[in-house]
Amino acid sequence: MSKQRRRREALLYHAKPKPGKVEVVPTKKYATQRDLSLAYSPGVAEPCLEIDKDVNNVYRYTNKGNLVAVISNGTAVLGLGNIGPEASKPVMEGKGLLFKIFADIDVFDIEVNTEDIDAFVNTVKNIAPTFGGINLEDIKAPEAFEIERRLKEELDIPVMHDDQHGTAIISSAALLNALEIANKKIEEVRFVVSGAGSAAISCTNLYIALGAKLENIVMFDSEGLLSEDRDNLAPSQEKFRSTKNYKSLAEAMKGADVFLGLSVGNIVTQEMVISMASNPIVFAMANPEPEIDYNLACASRDDIIMATGRSDHPNQVNNVLGFPFIFRGALDVRATKINEAMKMAAVKALANLAKEPVPEQVNIAYGETRLNFGKDYIIPKPFDPRLIGTVPPAVAKAAMDSGVATEPILDWDKYEDELFE
Ligand code: NAP
Ligand code: MG
Repeated sequence: MSKQRRRREALLYHAKPKPGKVEVVPTKKYATQRDLSLAYSPGVAEPCLEIDKDVNNVYRYTNKGNLVAVISNGTAVLGLGNIGPEASKPVMEGKGLLFKIFADIDVFDIEVNTEDIDAFVNTVKNIAPTFGGINLEDIKAPEAFEIERRLKEELDIPVMHDDQHGTAIISSAALLNALEIANKKIEEVRFVVSGAGSAAISCTNLYIALGAKLENIVMFDSEGLLSEDRDNLAPSQEKFRSTKNYKSLAEAMKGADVFLGLSVGNIVTQEMVISMASNPIVFAMANPEPEIDYNLACASRDDIIMATGRSDHPNQVNNVLGFPFIFRGALDVRATKINEAMKMAAVKALANLAKEPVPEQVNIAYGETRLNFGKDYIIPKPFDPRLIGTVPPAVAKAAMDSGVATEPILDWDKYEDELFE
């Protein structure tokens, strides 16, 4: 499809038949005067009074418990940069659509007109009573770190900045499986990370939580290696200073086991991939152009295990595998947080699911004949109907075990049945 054609199609999709991608639909009867007197005055006063008596009743009588705010200020939208709140709205609406279709979670998208950390945090705090969870989206670093940290601390509903943790969770699942296929141990492998922004930092931190050794990791930004003598590193980058003195990415990649790219397209050559250790793992996730083209990388050697952020190649690291299901699990036990244990549970659930036999309907959805755990299938596909029955229970259980679930699930069979309704 030509670029022109794709552009027209995308604009038409958003404009017709109604502008935008989501709408509000009543969930109660509204046919008669009686219905309306229950939905609104005077009947509506009864649940108000119940909630006034005990605030937890808000979960019983309103949609709070299934409603997530997707909130942005438009400062780091996709790869488009700081395009402002209005221009970010299509993305936030899109995220709402994905929450709904994959996990039946309702979303209000909220676009906030401020780049000030305090103002943003206060806005979110002040509207939090409406929501069961907060998905922060496309907010630029380093502000995003502080905003998420403060909101997690100050709110008692789950808060997650998906750009950081989503990618970290999905790529971690892919990494565990890639290492298994390569027959390597996470504690022993040598990592080269290209990019030192929010995605690269949060991915690398999660890999460390999974066992990667800090001394086996080197990280590069547009100025080169994060080394001892750099004087312009952000606090989140400090720990990745390396004592090695690689002069270039190419030099660092010689003999490395894992390349993680969360930077910019087309900066890795075939020669660099060829210089890596046996069974090299290359996650080239810059969007829309990966650090090295998928076909080019695969043509450089047979033993490569490759993933990108793109849907037109195998092993797409796609956040949609995470956020709908993580929030589903968190909401269903009314978790007060999305903590490390819950993220880790999502990683393991996703990694394990990829090792199960793939149902025929997934093969059909992707025009494949035999998806099967291996180099070309290290993470599940987004349209896998088993995700909803697998990831939310794992996350919910981790919330319970780590003490952040306020409404524990007692009957797991019943819960799992409900997930498929
Ligand atoms: P970000 O915070 O802006 O970080 C970008 C990082 O890349 C910065 O550290 C930047 O260094 C570095 N960089 C720029 N040019 C470079 C070069 N030539 N060599 C090495 N590093 C370079 O952005 P982000 O949110 O982390 O996202 C980074 C990339 O990952 C984007 O392409 C994004 O689309 C992609 N991404 C993909 C997924 C996915 O596939 N699921 C998820 C998240 C992000 P300076 O600070 O020196 O400029
Ligand atoms: Mg995003």
